Amino acid sequence: MAQVTCSFCGRNKKDVDLMVSGISAHICNVCIDQAYQILGEEEKTKKPTKNSKFKLKKPKELTEYLNQYVIGQFEAKKVLTVAVYNHYKRLGQKQNDEEEIKIEKSNIIMVGETGTGKTYLAKTLARTLEVPFCIADATVLTEAGYVGEDVESILTRLLQAADYNVEAAEKGIVYIDEIDKIARKSDNPSITRDVSGEGVQQALLKLLEGTVVNVPPQGGRKHPDQKMIAVNTENILFICGGAFDGITRHIAKRLNTQPLGFNKPTEQKTVDKENLLQYVTAQDLKGFGLIPELIGRLPVVTHLDPLDRATLKSILTEPKNALVKQYQKLMQMEGVKLVFEESGIDYIVDRAVEYNLGARGLRSICEAIITDAMYELPSDDTITELSIDEKYAAEQFDKSKFKKLQVA
Ligand code: ADP
Repeated sequence: MAQVTCSFCGRNKKDVDLMVSGISAHICNVCIDQAYQILGEEEKTKKPTKNSKFKLKKPKELTEYLNQYVIGQFEAKKVLTVAVYNHYKRLGQKQNDEEEIKIEKSNIIMVGETGTGKTYLAKTLARTLEVPFCIADATVLTEAGYVGEDVESILTRLLQAADYNVEAAEKGIVYIDEIDKIARKSDNPSITRDVSGEGVQQALLKLLEGTVVNVPPQGGRKHPDQKMIAVNTENILFICGGAFDGITRHIAKRLNTQPLGFNKPTEQKTVDKENLLQYVTAQDLKGFGLIPELIGRLPVVTHLDPLDRATLKSILTEPKNALVKQYQKLMQMEGVKLVFEESGIDYIVDRAVEYNLGARGLRSICEAIITDAMYELPSDDTITELSIDEKYAAEQFDKSKFKKLQVA
């Protein structure tokens, strides 16, 4: 009888532990092992395909992830993660069952002072979900035919973020910043009607609700010879944000005039006058100058809390990519141990509060304090440690443009 050998490596049956026989071939345990390893390697390097299942994280999981980057803002996180979860559940539903209850899109509007993390939250959320994301600025948008960008330009950016994968872009997230800037300037449309703002609001309606838009792939104005890409916005989640300066007046007025307003002694304690934004409703947005149709297409309303001293301090030190950690990493690459003393941290936070610069200001204050060191240290091998305490921080800060600005 013929010798049984492995069809892959040619080993003899007696030289191996196991030989598996097929119809007209054999394979030994050594080759099975090797093939298994190759399969494992392939799996690891395989890019997710278009059809690979989108794993939807639950609101609490999403919040846990957000917490690593965004400090506080618990209300906004809760509202956002629920809205996003429902949004993507809705997409799942569309694929599986046709009939019955149609879940409506839950676009979101966030109201919060500038620099409180509206953009950052939206961006971090999109990163968590691994969906294409883009930021658009409402102030540059105009009605078609006017100088400025058409609303379709928003989708050009989303397409670019999705590497022109239309299917991916159609499930993306768009953050529209400064939505408050396109508000009608007056409560009463018949007297001083601000047509430009309202026109943009009108132009946004279709986009937010869901429509097929022909998008110029490279942006810019539409012109007849340009090849357009059709994008359906039905499943794109729009998150709008704005500072809505002065909206607290509308909120206070509403709270005051409500039958159960905070004038009633029993209710008085429950209204936090320091942070009226937390009571914001669609009614206040209307009072501010958003048209009811637009508000209707942004059914989820949430707010961001102002950043107090303690929050600013946490933002500086705690998140996974906190500023302090970033500077330490940079210095570590130079072989220098950078230590932020408590007094140094407090100094930075105090200046951010004093200059009313919010979280964005923390960065510029840190730059003012550390730039000298970052200039000198790479060329100086003798220094291996730098400690930033109040004295050092104050000395550097006093030399910086901040102080010059103050003097001027
Ligand atoms: P907004 O859109 O509200 O004007 P941003 O989202 O642009 O503000 O915030 C500016 C920067 O401040 C962010 O890039 C982020 O680094 C920081 N920041 C603001 N709020 C927070 C927060 N709650 N947690 C962590 N970082 C924050």
